[in-house]
Amino acid sequence: MDFNKPRYTPMSRRRRIYEGKAKVLYEGPEPGTLIQHFKDDATAFNAKKHEVIEGKGVLNNRISEYLFQRLNDIGVPTHFIRRLNMREQLIREVEIIPLSVAVRNVAAGSLAKRLGIEEGTQLPRSIIEFYYKNDQLSHPMVSEEHITAFGWATPQEIDDIMALAIRVNDFLCGLFLGVGIRLVDFKMECGRLWENDLMRVVVADEISPDSCRLWDIKSNDKLDKDRFRRDLGGLLEAYTDVAKRLGIMSENERPQGTGPVLVKG
Ligand code: UDP
Repeated sequence: MDFNKPRYTPMSRRRRIYEGKAKVLYEGPEPGTLIQHFKDDATAFNAKKHEVIEGKGVLNNRISEYLFQRLNDIGVPTHFIRRLNMREQLIREVEIIPLSVAVRNVAAGSLAKRLGIEEGTQLPRSIIEFYYKNDQLSHPMVSEEHITAFGWATPQEIDDIMALAIRVNDFLCGLFLGVGIRLVDFKMECGRLWENDLMRVVVADEISPDSCRLWDIKSNDKLDKDRFRRDLGGLLEAYTDVAKRLGIMSENERPQGTGPVLVKG
């Protein structure tokens, strides 16, 4: 027996650590690791709108893998280790900081609404916003004052998060621009990674068309979850387009994770 090889644990016997709206976290093969499983569920408006879009999880797993790997390659610390299969990736276990960090380049969504700015207006500079991750409260926007006063993150951690957010945004803007896509905004989450007694803040969760606004440069077509939020249809086609443009899915690859189905005559 090869003791260096982690043993395969059938999915049914794995310990489920956490189930979110679009992902499940399972215990990993080694201490300090987890398995992140991408589901096909699409939710919006704090889960008031819900649908299952077959194949979305497979696409998000691949796109998020690609983006996190590119970030690892340029030295941006992330939780990502490697993809395991169509729907799962091996990640480092981190202590999630309970903040959603939104980075915006162009006015859209809640910012456009809140400040009465027309969607599509280029912002004078990139803007970082913090939201408190709490479903019961519908993720309210919070300031640095709230974050430090309630102890969600320290001032040093906020500095680290903002530095990461700017690096991720600059890198992703360039990467997407290269494939004819404008990165309008995105959301990222951060976690504390403990290495012996040292702690560093790393990028966690996912970065995918579920958590970004991606507009085609020429047509302004939406290639992201707004297709679901706004009932535009064609979500799978849009996500597949993003994957293809990034060069991570061959033309004839099926996004569905189930494979061919035997039809009994
Ligand atoms: N976002 C997200 N999860 C959330 C809220 C927002 O991934 O729970 C992303 C969203 O896809 C967009 C960015 O964060 O790319 C900014 O979203 P916004 O605040 O405009 O909220 P929305 O209009 O999506 O409700």
